[in-house]
Amino acid sequence: MFAEVAIKVPLFRTFDYAIPKHSTVTVGCRVKVPFGNRKLVAVVLAIKSHTDVPEAKLKTIAEVLDSSPILSTDHIKFLRFTAQYYAHPLGETLFTALPAALREGEHPDKTTVATFSLTAKGKQLPTLRAKKQQSLLKQLNESGESSLTELKALGFSKQQLNSLLDKQLIEEQIKHDSQWQSQTLNIASKPRLNEEQATACSVINQQAGFRCFLLEGVTGSGKTEVYLQSLERVLQNGHQALILVPEIGLTPQTVNRFRRRFPDTPIDLWHSNLTDNERLHTWRRAEKGSCALVIGTRSSIFLPFKSLGMIIVDEEHDGSFKQQEGLRYHARDLAAYRCASLKIPLILGTATPALETLNKAISSKYQLLTLSQRAQTTTDNQFLLVDMKGQSEQFGFSETTLKHIEATLKRAKQVMVFLNRRGYAPTLLCHECGWLSQCNHCSASTTYHKAMSRLVCHHCAQQSFVPPQCPDCGSTQIMPAGLGTEQLESFLSERFADIPLSRIDRDTTRRKGALEDALADINLGGARILVGTQMLAKGHHFADVSLVVILDVDSGLYSSDFRATEHMAQLITQVAGRAGRSGEAGKVLLQTHFPEHPLLQDLVHNGYQDFARYALKEREEALLPPFSHLAILRAQATNAQLVFDFLSDLVPATPYCGIQLLGPIPAPMERMAGKYRYQLHIQASERMVLHNYIAQLMAYISEHKLANRVRWSIDIDPMDTY
Ligand code: ADP
Ligand code: ZN
Ligand code: ZN
Repeated sequence: MFAEVAIKVPLFRTFDYAIPKHSTVTVGCRVKVPFGNRKLVAVVLAIKSHTDVPEAKLKTIAEVLDSSPILSTDHIKFLRFTAQYYAHPLGETLFTALPAALREGEHPDKTTVATFSLTAKGKQLPTLRAKKQQSLLKQLNESGESSLTELKALGFSKQQLNSLLDKQLIEEQIKHDSQWQSQTLNIASKPRLNEEQATACSVINQQAGFRCFLLEGVTGSGKTEVYLQSLERVLQNGHQALILVPEIGLTPQTVNRFRRRFPDTPIDLWHSNLTDNERLHTWRRAEKGSCALVIGTRSSIFLPFKSLGMIIVDEEHDGSFKQQEGLRYHARDLAAYRCASLKIPLILGTATPALETLNKAISSKYQLLTLSQRAQTTTDNQFLLVDMKGQSEQFGFSETTLKHIEATLKRAKQVMVFLNRRGYAPTLLCHECGWLSQCNHCSASTTYHKAMSRLVCHHCAQQSFVPPQCPDCGSTQIMPAGLGTEQLESFLSERFADIPLSRIDRDTTRRKGALEDALADINLGGARILVGTQMLAKGHHFADVSLVVILDVDSGLYSSDFRATEHMAQLITQVAGRAGRSGEAGKVLLQTHFPEHPLLQDLVHNGYQDFARYALKEREEALLPPFSHLAILRAQATNAQLVFDFLSDLVPATPYCGIQLLGPIPAPMERMAGKYRYQLHIQASERMVLHNYIAQLMAYISEHKLANRVRWSIDIDPMDTY
C-alpha cells in the first residue's frame, strides 16, 4: 500500500511513499518521510493501492507520528479548497494552517490546563505598589478563574502572575482537560435588546443552515450584544463558535464581555502573544470540543472544531484579516466557505462594511441587518471640514483647528489627533540645493526621527546618521520637510504645556505590552491629548474624547490605490465613533484642501452608509472589484531586466478569453531593500475564468526557466497594490 502525502515545499504537487509493513497509517496522520537528504514531516492525504512512481525511485515512510488523525477529512477538504482558491501549494497551505508544534512533529496531546484565581487573601484586594499587579488582581476579581492565555491576551505577563503567586494572593489550578458540558450553560444578566437588536437576533436565531448576515451597525449600536445573544442558542445546542477579531490585545473589553456573559463556558483565545505550546493546546481543545468559544485573530480560521455552530467576524472590514505574505488568505472569505460547507450561520459585523461585503448584502446574497442608533446615547457627532486652502498653518494645524483643541481642553475633555505618518518628518530637505534624504536601497525617502537623531527607511528599516551638512552641496541648511507624529507631539506639548499628552504609534509601542499599558493609562484619565497613527483608531473606547482631528485627509482622496477612498472613509468613520461617548456630542475636524470633494461631502453629510453605496456605483462604472475579480502576480529581483523579462514572458501573444492583463508595470514602490519590483494585474469579470486562468499560469510558471531566479508570488483578491 502507498500513502499520498503533502510536504511543506513550494511545489504544486503531492508525493507518494510506500507504507512500511506492520504499520497503520490513516488519512490525516503525520508521518516522517525521507526527502532529498532530509527527513521531513508530512501529512497523509490518501491511502492507495497503486502509484505511478517507479519502484526504483519509491521511498518508504520512515516513521508514523500519530496513532489517530490530527486533521479530519473535512478539515483537509477545507484546506484543499484554501490552497486551490489562493493558488498556493497544498503542502505549504496545510503547514501554514497547523500550529508550529504540530508542524515540527511534536506529540499532539497535552491534557492539562493551568488556570488562576484569587486566594482568600487576594479577595481582600490589598493595595499593591506595582500598578500592573494591582490591575491583574482586579481583573481576576471581576472575571473569576481565568486561563493563562486569557490573561496574556489582556496584556498580563507570566512574571506578574508569579509575583502574585509569591505573595499568595492568587493560586494556580492544574486541571485535566475534559469535554465541555453544554448543560451547564449559565448566562449572566443582560440588557433588554432594543427593537433593531431584537429583530437582528430573531432573524439570526430562526436561521437553520447556512446564511451570511451583514450586521451593519454604527459604532456603539450594540453589535456585540447581538453576537452575545445569538450565541446563546448555539451554546445551548451544544455547538461551538468562533469569533474572529482584528487584534485581541486592543480589545480587552470585548474579551471580558464574553467571559462575563457566559461565566461557566470555557473560552479559549488565539492570538500572536501565545507560545507554541499554548497554540497547540487551543487547537486540540477546539478539536476535541473541550472549549465552547474561541476568540481569535486571523489565523484562528484554520482551527479544527468538533462541532462548530457559528462564526462571527467582528470589524469585518479590517485589513488585518488579510494575510499579506506566504499564503495570502482572507480570513473573512474563508469563514464564508467554512460556514457554507458546515451549513451554519456567519455574522459579519461592522460600522463600515467593506465594499465587497456590502455589495453582497445589496444584491441579497447576504442578509443585511441594520442597527442605526447608538445603544446608550442618542447624540450624533458633528463633522467639520476645515478648508486649508490659503490658510496659514502651524505644524500642520490651522488656526481654526487649534481654537477647537483649546476649547475642548478647557472643558477637561480629551482630544485625539491623527496623522498616518510616524517619525518627526517624512524627509530632510536641503534649503539651498533641494537635496532630499533618500534610502539607498528603496525608491523612498528616509524618515527623520528627531529623538533618535537618525534617518530611518520605513520600508527596509535601514538606519543612518543625520548628516551635519548637505551631502550634495555642503550647505548646513538642511531641515525637516513634512509632518510626522513625533513632530505633532513636540509642537502640542509645547503649545499646551500643562496638559498631559500621549503618543501612540509603532515607535512608542515597540515593547511587548507597551500599547496595552499606554491605553490603560489613557483610560485612567492620564493623557488629555492623544496623538497617533491608525493604531490609535482600532476599537478603543475612550470615555472622554469629544474632539477628533484628522490632519491628512487628502492623502486618501488622491491615491493610485483604488481602495484608498474606501479606507479613508472607514478610518474617518471609525475614528469619529470614538468621539462623543461621554454624553455630549463629539466633533470631528477634517483638514482638507478639497472640502468640495463629492466623496467627502457625501461622507460628512450622509454618513458611511451613503458614501459606500455611492462608492460602489463608481466601482461598478470602472469595473473594479467587486464588479470584477483581480489577482496580482508580483515579482522582484536585484536585476530589474530579469524581473521584467519574466513577467513579460507570461503575457501571451493572444489574449485569453475573458481575461485582461495589465503589465508588467513597476510596483508603486519600484525598488525596495535593493530589489526591483514589478507586477502583473490579472482581471476577469467571472471568478471561474480568473481561477482557471491562474491554475494554467501556475503550471506554466513552475516550468519557467526564470522562475527560480526571481522571487514571485500570486495574490488573489489583493487588498492593496503594493
Ligand atoms: P458595538 O459593538 O456596536 O460598538 P456594543 O455592543 O459595545 O456596541 O454596545 C455599546 C454599549 O451599549 C455597551 O456598553 C453595551 O453594553 C451597551 N448596550 C448594548 N446594547 C444595549 C441594550 N440593548 N441596552 C442597554 N445597553 C446596551
Ligand atoms: Zn544641498
Ligand atoms: Zn529602504
